[in-house]
Amino acid sequence: MRRRRPGLVPALFAAWAVLACSAGQRAQVETTLARTLISDEQSNQIGAQVHADAESSGVRYVQDPAVRGYVESVATRIFALARPDRPGVDYHVHLIDDPKTVNAFAAPGGHLFVYSGLLLAAANEAELAAVIGHETGHVVDRHVERAMVNAYGLDALASAALGRNPGPAKELAAGVVGTGVMRAHSRSEETEADEYGVRTVAGIGYDPRAMLTFLAQLQSGEGKTPRVPQWLSTHPLTPDRIEHLERYIADNRLSGSDLGAQRLAAIKSRLGGAPSGA
Ligand SMILES: [Zn+2]
Repeated sequence: MRRRRPGLVPALFAAWAVLACSAGQRAQVETTLARTLISDEQSNQIGAQVHADAESSGVRYVQDPAVRGYVESVATRIFALARPDRPGVDYHVHLIDDPKTVNAFAAPGGHLFVYSGLLLAAANEAELAAVIGHETGHVVDRHVERAMVNAYGLDALASAALGRNPGPAKELAAGVVGTGVMRAHSRSEETEADEYGVRTVAGIGYDPRAMLTFLAQLQSGEGKTPRVPQWLSTHPLTPDRIEHLERYIADNRLSGSDLGAQRLAAIKSRLGGAPSGA
């Protein structure tokens, strides 16, 4: 059965050539192409493949059911708000057992990866929730798929979309891991994800300023501790990022009082880290 749509590729190439003339427009075109070429179903497959590949390449996940359950319970409340914004993807959170790495990232299909080092570095549960909210923002706004269009080129993705490539999920997943696609977010995407994160955490009662305290804490620790704050290197702290967030929180009257410092402290001690505030 022929499922090829021969008119699609030239049309998309034409759109690309005409519109891809500035960084902002280019990002918009990439987002449109990502929406056209990468279905939610494919996104879910690629995300599941990234998860499987990580496991077979030796990434260890935290096994303690109390710690896993804790992170899942925080993420589940955020995912509940995200689902209406992008209903087609499955939302998952995976907790990587690596206490020295302060990082988190979003893979296609709503697969979020959080390192145990990020839990240890966060001062309270609201900071953890803000990071999960930020990464969820990258999923909802299709930034991961946009980065894939940017990284692989239109032709490869068009081939996958047209069914010419027998194993697109597997190949694309390998590319996602190998090329650091998930570190390719633009500055405007970081702003979008920050705004999504603080809106979402405030929506479930957390203090949205936790995002600011987390960023400030990582920034002040930079260069002083052997623990490199990777989350800042993958989500760069531009000079106006904190300032913009402060203004955004004030302008939108976002508020919340829950910090959950004690709840995170209990989890940190299970992970073998210092209690909160130490
Ligand atoms: Zn980000």
